[in-house]
Amino acid sequence: MQNFLTIILAILFFSTSFSQAPVQRPKLIVGIVVDQMRWDYLYRFYERYGDKGFKRLLNDGFSCENTFIPYAPTVTACGHASIYTGSVPAINGITGNNWFDYENYKPMYCTQDDSVQTVGSTTNAGAQSPKNLLTTTIGDELMLATNFKSKVVGVAIKDRGSILPAGHSATAAYWYDSKTGDFITSTFYMNALPTWVNDFNAKKYPDTYYKEGWKTLYPLNSYVHSTADINTFENKPFGQDKVGFPYDLSKFAGNNYSAVTSTPYGNTLTSEMAKAALVNEQLGADDITDMLAISFSSPDYVGHAFGPNSVEAEDIFLRLDKEIADLLDFFDTKVGKGQYTVFLSADHGAAHVPAFVKSKRMPGGVIDPTPAFQELNQLLKKEFGKADLVLDMINYQVNLNTRLFDGSKINIKAVKTYIVNYLSTMPGIDRVFDLDDVQTIPLNETIRKMVNNGYSHNRSGQVQVIFKPQFIEGFGAGGTTHGLWNPYDAHIPLVWYGAGIKKGLTNRETYMTDIAATLAAMLKIQMPSGCIGTVISEAIQ
Ligand code: ZN
Ligand code: ZN
Repeated sequence: MQNFLTIILAILFFSTSFSQAPVQRPKLIVGIVVDQMRWDYLYRFYERYGDKGFKRLLNDGFSCENTFIPYAPTVTACGHASIYTGSVPAINGITGNNWFDYENYKPMYCTQDDSVQTVGSTTNAGAQSPKNLLTTTIGDELMLATNFKSKVVGVAIKDRGSILPAGHSATAAYWYDSKTGDFITSTFYMNALPTWVNDFNAKKYPDTYYKEGWKTLYPLNSYVHSTADINTFENKPFGQDKVGFPYDLSKFAGNNYSAVTSTPYGNTLTSEMAKAALVNEQLGADDITDMLAISFSSPDYVGHAFGPNSVEAEDIFLRLDKEIADLLDFFDTKVGKGQYTVFLSADHGAAHVPAFVKSKRMPGGVIDPTPAFQELNQLLKKEFGKADLVLDMINYQVNLNTRLFDGSKINIKAVKTYIVNYLSTMPGIDRVFDLDDVQTIPLNETIRKMVNNGYSHNRSGQVQVIFKPQFIEGFGAGGTTHGLWNPYDAHIPLVWYGAGIKKGLTNRETYMTDIAATLAAMLKIQMPSGCIGTVISEAIQ
């Protein structure tokens, strides 16, 4: 009898708790995208990180150790769009930072919107919106799920690192105007900056940072993971006379607001702005889930200039670790421990500096396509009787001047074949093919899949170029870049932490597009409208 009663009570208890329990959601979702963070940076500097930054995320959260970008080109706009849409350029339309728009027959920047104006400065750095993004983001879906009671805010130095993550229905997106040193937005979001943003800008943090200069966090001789500070593999973003630590930046104060973006202070500035946004927009303050999308742009500027093996790269990641520790502490205090969920990922990685890998007897090199394109257009004119048949090469694709073919007798297939044959002979180039042939030619399946996922009829070129591994597009011996299919560009960190997240890791192959799908599952909301990712169920409780 007692057992029977216990069972009845247990059934009653469980049925009422199931029927009455509201959907449990964290108060705040924090997305952290580190611009140009290779997956190996989690471990390359692991022993030098503190316990409260990357290590807190890794040891108390869930790490997807083999997360890949499923498309090419692996560049900033595509990465930020893919993370937050769970989609790929072929579907969300963000085929590059820049592309040629064949529909309107003009060059296009990813977040360009000529119908809106800058708010917060007199420059044109704010004539931007998510207009070119063809699908919803996870933030848009959160807005729809809460009938627009949520707040979704994007913060980054780079416009595209803020606008694309924040989505179409964002409360706000703020980015940095490197001409004025202020955070700005556009009339797409609002007609005037909130008082708190004006107050933030009035502090002119970059001037304070410039007076401090960039010194290494620890003694220079302790940077044993990196190439010697003075070497021949680096560019000089602070001027031809500024080589090696410490970097005296005092001359930039009050007159150059772009130099700060190539220092760790760019991350500090972003972090301060994100904290101010959380407080003033009251993100995570009530039970309706909000979203804060932060992108740290400065590791990309530093990575391009100095390369992954530089003291500068090591130092910016040791300092970013402290920045993340500070942010997590801040969320603990303001939102509450266990009340928020964080994911940290990257928009892409980067190749090592080719001259550096060559100095270690590994293959690599730099390809400057400009002279080849000039010669190509001359040869095409001789062969087909028309000048300027090639517009340019963007996103490792040749853009044809297709209007010139209209009403002419020139065979476009013959022109493409000519281009394929010509470019195939260039040193450092692995493959060149007509994109119409991508399904039928012999091609590694990983590359085929990534090229397909990156292709959009109106926003892509007609001929694809694949470089040999560790060959990059560039114009000098120093610095590096990213953009193709290779693991150094496409293998990114993905770490989950906080409310609703299990402790652990998986070595299973996961994809950038799984992030939004997993968030949708965790929040019990609809996936974004172009989402092709699958849920990483191991990570969620
Ligand atoms: Zn980037
Ligand atoms: Zn970059």
